[in-house]
Amino acid sequence: MSAEPVLTISGLNVDYGTDKDAVHALRDIDLTLHRGEVLGLAGESGSGKSTLAYAVTRLLSPPGVITGGEVHYHRPGGDRVDILSLAPHRLRAFRWQELSIVFQGAMNSLNPVHTVHSQLTDVLAAHRPELRKRQRTDRAKELLSLVGISADRLAAYPHQLSGGMRQRVMIAMALALEPEIVIMDEPTTALDVVMQRQILRRLVQLREQLNFSVVFITHDISLLIEFSDRIAIMYGGRIVEEAGAAEIYRDPRHPYSDGLLHSFPALHGPRRELTGIPGSPPHLSAMPTGCAFHPRCGKAFVPCAAEIPVLTPPPAEPGRAVACHLHAPGRGAPRPGQQGVPGQVAPGPAR
Ligand code: SF4
Repeated sequence: MSAEPVLTISGLNVDYGTDKDAVHALRDIDLTLHRGEVLGLAGESGSGKSTLAYAVTRLLSPPGVITGGEVHYHRPGGDRVDILSLAPHRLRAFRWQELSIVFQGAMNSLNPVHTVHSQLTDVLAAHRPELRKRQRTDRAKELLSLVGISADRLAAYPHQLSGGMRQRVMIAMALALEPEIVIMDEPTTALDVVMQRQILRRLVQLREQLNFSVVFITHDISLLIEFSDRIAIMYGGRIVEEAGAAEIYRDPRHPYSDGLLHSFPALHGPRRELTGIPGSPPHLSAMPTGCAFHPRCGKAFVPCAAEIPVLTPPPAEPGRAVACHLHAPGRGAPRPGQQGVPGQVAPGPAR
């Protein structure tokens, strides 16, 4: 992994709707993906992870609308591409070629009435018209072998493959044009644990071989700890903590990150008590005031219901950032009696 950025997101805001009933799905997202890195995005359903993937790839459909911010792709030579301003024909070439996405549920993404061969070669025909038919078939075979599927499955229809094979075909398709960035939105959620790990191990090997960067989205933080270099945790449409995977595992700073880690059994290392997180994620149309996590947070104290904490690096900890008043420089820990229990700090009106 290098320190060179390949994708930078600054101040990204996304709403659903444009009138007075519009809800804020993403707020002030700042994120950098480095070349060759696996960046994990974790959070419960509704935290904004998939909205972020759709916004970055300009695949948001109405009523989703990007209301602010910038997204830049950095080509290997240093050239910078403003993704949000790309004209439709340039955007079409940009997707697949420089950035591709693997959606959750391969059965919904693959066309059930076309063979694997037809779907893989279709991508090549659209983006590499100079390739002859024979070359496209050879490349399709090569792509299948990259993801560990034998070439004789080229003639199969999606329903003739197992769930794991279908998802690997999707990964092969995403790698067809050797993009610099692959966004994976819950790529293995529908698969059993053994298949999940097989696919993700293969993905990490491919990343080392081909040097692409990955944004890996899932609600399963234990997978991210195992397969990511860095992790950003999302809650209520904001990033609440960002750090190296090992740092988050060893010492999560945000109470929500800590809750997520204690919601999944660890596959390695000492056993942890599973405590879960009380309550449910907030609805976008009734977001609590201040820190959106405060109605569920056992550490909430006086400022939490009133002030939105800003994502800032804790003192002397470069490479890590937390949005929590407990860690705000200069604020200090709450005094006895200032701290509440989940549910005691009443949610404020929707904002
Ligand atoms: Fe909990 Fe307050 Fe930190 Fe939010 S800002 S996570 S409510 S302590």
